[in-house]
Amino acid sequence: MAVPKRKTSPSKRGMRRSHDSLRVEAFQECSNCGELKRPHNLCSSCGHYNGREIIAVGA
Ligand SMILES: [Zn+2]
Repeated sequence: MAVPKRKTSPSKRGMRRSHDSLRVEAFQECSNCGELKRPHNLCSSCGHYNGREIIAVGA
């Protein structure tokens, strides 16, 4: 079994983990119903996008 030759230093470990943090997802209010939705995505509660109803959502 392959085994690392050297112990990873705290600095190298930190460099690797610098990209590991989770980001807060972007949210916008829907212009039709006011629910929070992802920008550039169809609203999941009313089915509107860009001022038009794209899909009918049974409430
Ligand atoms: Zn909506």
